Amino acid sequence: MTAFAHIPGHRFLHAPGPTHLHRAVLEAMGRQPLDHGDPRLPALVAACEDGLKKLMGSPQAHVFLYATNGHGAWEAAHANLFSVGDTVLIPGTGHFSESWAIQTEALGAQVIRTPWIEGFPLDPQVIEAALKADTEHRIKAVLTVHTDTASGMTNDLAAIRAAIDAARHPALFVVDVVASLGAAPFNMDQVRANVVIGASQKGLMCTPGLGFCGVDAQALDVARRNPNPRFYWDWIRRLGKESYFKFCGTAPQNLLMGMEAAFGLIAHEGIDQVFARHDRIARATQAAVQCWSRAGQFGFFSQVAAARSVSVTAITVAPGIDVEALRTVARERFQVAFAGGLGPMTGRMFRIGHLGDINEAMIMGCLGGIEAAFAVQGIPFESGLAAAARSLSQSI
Ligand SMILES: *Cc1c(COP(=O)(O)O)cnc(C)c1O
Repeated sequence: MTAFAHIPGHRFLHAPGPTHLHRAVLEAMGRQPLDHGDPRLPALVAACEDGLKKLMGSPQAHVFLYATNGHGAWEAAHANLFSVGDTVLIPGTGHFSESWAIQTEALGAQVIRTPWIEGFPLDPQVIEAALKADTEHRIKAVLTVHTDTASGMTNDLAAIRAAIDAARHPALFVVDVVASLGAAPFNMDQVRANVVIGASQKGLMCTPGLGFCGVDAQALDVARRNPNPRFYWDWIRRLGKESYFKFCGTAPQNLLMGMEAAFGLIAHEGIDQVFARHDRIARATQAAVQCWSRAGQFGFFSQVAAARSVSVTAITVAPGIDVEALRTVARERFQVAFAGGLGPMTGRMFRIGHLGDINEAMIMGCLGGIEAAFAVQGIPFESGLAAAARSLSQSI
């Protein structure tokens, strides 16, 4: 199973994270580490922080990078913002809002959830109503998932910001951009997000291993006054200039080297071009899924076309289709790895990741491999390859 070296050609990694890595990122990660006194080290850290601030659209934000994953970045934000017994609102977006809620409860907070409606993005009015009902302002923060990777849907953050404002509620706006940053437009300052939470292995084109929080002045002030005991995650402790303080110990240097290289690639392409490429590739994928659906075995999970994510497409399957068998055939015979459903969607859907270091030929290869796996499994489908190619030909 591990003998990848004997497989000829390109293996198509189409999970919605981890994502395919550019050679420049892999090569950068293969460099020798630096000693703590080397001036290249602060320059490396600054390049990563600046790259994140540019992608977040907030030159003023503080960036705290951790050797961790998205769950660790959730915990970092929690440890700094909340204490045991605090109340937060987590609007239901699917598996990721629910995972966040479970982790938040495990850390001792009270979670108010809004119901998740399968196939639909967040309704800002429901958030406004939940905040208005909180007349004593017990809710400390609204923890919102931008793109729920399990639902394949992106929520309208500007509308959610407007809902918080309309409720005249002082709750912090905390946004999880793990699956959207570097793929879909996002601007921390425009939506006045107080905290932004991300991880390296999705749109940021890096390996798994880095998580981060982008923090505005108001949230930093909340952290300063928060008595909750913490050490490794503590933002205030990490405000020092030296990397040893910034990382509460040795910096994860080779991960940072990879991130610096990835941000170099994004800057070289241009961020608007990066977003346009994601949009183009998502549309081609959707064009194929439209055709696949005609034989009645598949469908879009998202009932709202405008909410379909540029990072990942979630496709429901008819009862009787064995998603795990389909994935195994696609991966082992055709070198295409894609994702299954998570949580309540396990066995009911599969998901095609199309974010990060990806191009037109890669998505065509991915869709072709998946069709070959449909054929092996005897699943009726109408081919979507021509529609995908036409979609690509029509978008510039
Ligand atoms: C992947 C993901 C996470 C969790 O990240 P890990 O790195 O797997 O811990 C959290 N939120 C969203 C929206 C994600 O897509």
